[in-house]
Amino acid sequence: MISVDEAISIVEKNVIPQEKSCTLSLSAAAGYVLFNNVLAPIDMPPFRQSAMDGYALNLHALNSYRIIEEVKAGDSHQPVLQKGEAARIFTGAPVPDSANAIVIQEHVKIQKSTLSLDQHPSLDDHIRPMGEQIKKGHLALKKGSVLTSAGLGYLTSLGITDVEVYPKPKITVIVTGNELARAGEPLSFGQIYESNALMLTQALQQAGYQNFKVAQVPDSLEATREILEEEITRCDLLLISGGISVGAYDFVGRALDEIKVKQLFYKVNQKPGKPLYFGKLGHTYVFALPGNPAAALTCFYIYVRRVLAKLSGQVDFTPLKISAKVNSAITKKGGRAQFLKADFNGERVTILEGQNSSMLYTFAVANALVYIPAQKTEIEIDEAVEVILLPLN
Ligand code: AMP
Ligand code: MG
Repeated sequence: MISVDEAISIVEKNVIPQEKSCTLSLSAAAGYVLFNNVLAPIDMPPFRQSAMDGYALNLHALNSYRIIEEVKAGDSHQPVLQKGEAARIFTGAPVPDSANAIVIQEHVKIQKSTLSLDQHPSLDDHIRPMGEQIKKGHLALKKGSVLTSAGLGYLTSLGITDVEVYPKPKITVIVTGNELARAGEPLSFGQIYESNALMLTQALQQAGYQNFKVAQVPDSLEATREILEEEITRCDLLLISGGISVGAYDFVGRALDEIKVKQLFYKVNQKPGKPLYFGKLGHTYVFALPGNPAAALTCFYIYVRRVLAKLSGQVDFTPLKISAKVNSAITKKGGRAQFLKADFNGERVTILEGQNSSMLYTFAVANALVYIPAQKTEIEIDEAVEVILLPLN
């Protein structure tokens, strides 16, 4: 059995981004990762630009200026100002070449076409130089950048329409178990409603991964092997739920062996999610997640998200973590690391009741996981703990 840190480092070391790229229009590229450096095709701003509403001046020694023109945003004319002359100007307008400062309108008095200054402006005041943000041909955004809303706005402000990005991985989710019934159908004795497929695919979508399919298989070695063999060639990431423990009807481990998936780790010293399996065949990575729903989702947030991010070209993905003081003491038995469902109120964190890995209720009302390292046995009230923030919307 390996530690949480070892498991994370095996994931980090073994997963490499896909070596292909695809071209997307900016409007479809949110959350994707740049495959190449993007260079600025233009200077930004493309001309000397007024940062304020006011007056463009050709400075001279006196405090009084003659207003001869007006330039507003979108205008293309360039009035020629002699020393001591001013042009009315507005935010975003091109600054005349002959102007060397802008004074904001709050700092002047106007009488007819004469302007008097309250205070003398400095050279280049409120003028955004051409290329101030970025110069044509310079690096606008580097390879590996995740395209956020701001990043997309920035690239479109440079006139860019398409980007080359890493494709998002293709995912197959397979749920296993004879006991699984479909919600909406009557429940026979001994059955439970299958919930991992919806939960995991929603978590995938929330993280920005839409390219998935779902399959279900009974607890049979043959059926499990067949579906794994078929799906593994079709996807980049296979997520299997259940059937990875040591029970006589847990066939996933054996089926993965039989189809020659290389095991990278099996069993992590953690609660929940001890029987977690990670492996690889060709370019496809495989997680066999515990069937217990809360354990499966914990493993998704801690391990699967990293693999998804790496496959998508992200270099340094880590879950959002903070340190916060805990509202109650914790005594931990056994030597396993724990991920505890918790409520973080922006300042302090409360460990929630009902941590059993079969229970989803607690997870449903949690907004964080508190991580307690394996070697830690006692945590006092007010002690600072590591809090992993969960995505909520
Ligand atoms: P397993 O890992 O297959 O031994 O399953 C562990 C527990 O999780 C058992 O109680 C299963 O019934 C339950 N379980 C497994 N798969 C699912 C699923 N897809 N949805 C809900 N519960 C599941
Ligand atoms: Mg099972």
